[in-house]
Amino acid sequence: MPILTPSRRWQQAYYPFKKRRLSQKIEEAFERSFKGIVWGCRMCGNCLLQETAFICPMACPKGLRNGPCGGSTPDHCCVDESRPCIWYEIYRRADKMGRLDKLVEVLPPLDWDKAGTSALRDVYDKVLDHGVSKTVTTIVKSSTDERKEKWDQFFKDIRQPDWWDGDDQPHPAPTHEPVSHLEKILLEGQFALTCEVVPAISGNFSAFDVTLSELQGLVDAVNITDSASATPRVSPLACAIRARELGTEPVLQMAARDRTRLSFQADLMGASASGIRNILLITGDHPNKGSQPFSKMDIWDYDSVQAIWMARKLRDEATFLDGRNIDEPPSYFLGAAASPNASTPKYQGIRAQKKMNAGAQFFQTNLVFDIRNFEEYLEALDQRGVLNKVYLIAGVTIIRSINNANYLNKLPGVTMPNWIIQRLTESKDPKQEGYQLSLELIEQLKDLPGVHGLHFMAISNPAKLRCLLKDSNLL
Ligand code: SF4
Repeated sequence: MPILTPSRRWQQAYYPFKKRRLSQKIEEAFERSFKGIVWGCRMCGNCLLQETAFICPMACPKGLRNGPCGGSTPDHCCVDESRPCIWYEIYRRADKMGRLDKLVEVLPPLDWDKAGTSALRDVYDKVLDHGVSKTVTTIVKSSTDERKEKWDQFFKDIRQPDWWDGDDQPHPAPTHEPVSHLEKILLEGQFALTCEVVPAISGNFSAFDVTLSELQGLVDAVNITDSASATPRVSPLACAIRARELGTEPVLQMAARDRTRLSFQADLMGASASGIRNILLITGDHPNKGSQPFSKMDIWDYDSVQAIWMARKLRDEATFLDGRNIDEPPSYFLGAAASPNASTPKYQGIRAQKKMNAGAQFFQTNLVFDIRNFEEYLEALDQRGVLNKVYLIAGVTIIRSINNANYLNKLPGVTMPNWIIQRLTESKDPKQEGYQLSLELIEQLKDLPGVHGLHFMAISNPAKLRCLLKDSNLL
């Protein structure tokens, strides 16, 4: 285990893509050995240690650079249970050091041209640019506060390249007319209802069309999941276009897992050009949740926070990641996933703040069963100034049986309190008991301040959803 990064083991280091001079090779070999022993450094060439409590985030199997994923727990990583969630460890150490607020800044994806090269070289070059003696004088002569401020700025300039320019400030959408029905009803203060539809594993739309027709009139918008559980299904963009044609408003989910930053920006334009106006950006389930052979396991090109940042910049600043401008920028209502049960509410509150700052306008949460934990989460959002600045749509489902409850309880980011399992176990009719429990949860969620709607997940039978909505007085 590296000395300062509590990861289970070494992960493969990157090597430069281009030919290097001998002096550069020596410099890089030195850095790889030294930082490898201390931090388990993978030579990403875009070092963030200064911001991440001196724990290397590149030990995360998803390569996340902006906080814990929706499946993280205090005990282990949701991808590899033999190691801790590195982001949970980063938050924990930053908390102890009083540096939690450092973790609100939106950090850039890798510049792959720098992978394998010396990150310390950036520091030397900046000192040389500034002048060695001037740098030393600044350090010696400044007051403690000035020195801290200059030190922070020095590293910020290095970690935030011009093409990214991330910060820790909110970037709300400019004043505008609602671009979708979903945005309109939320803006009007109506209680929104959405439902996820998992596209079929099929070469046609027949099953999808039937599901959509059964959902007509039940919900305000339908989320189209993006190859959930890392299993290929009909493309969500194709399904979203189909849904529009059939008169249903889609929420197009786009997972960072399956795209490069290039194809992502292309899909954003394609979605907008096709009239898709609600987009939900997620990191996505890890490939090892799907079937073998697994695709690339340890690093993605960008994460969900970076996706939101890129999508907002493209829409509001008409700017691509590379700085080029677009004459007619895309138009969409931008959403993000929220995970009230992952890691701890306090840490997920920071993650939510970061997503809101990056540009998220609405959140759809993972399944909520533990109302007390959810209230803690809402409190964390409130403390972070997130509550009521974004629309929060809480995730619910119908508990179908004890087996179903146990299955849901094992999903990353889902926690089922013991009393629910106990009630199901003791009931003579667990199916009816599960339904009753779902009604009770809905009743409680509806009344919580800061909850603007409900998002129905894992519902295979729209007729059941109709009953549930009627019995909850939502229809
Ligand atoms: S739980 Fe998620 S964020 Fe944490 S190390 Fe694993 S993949 Fe990364």
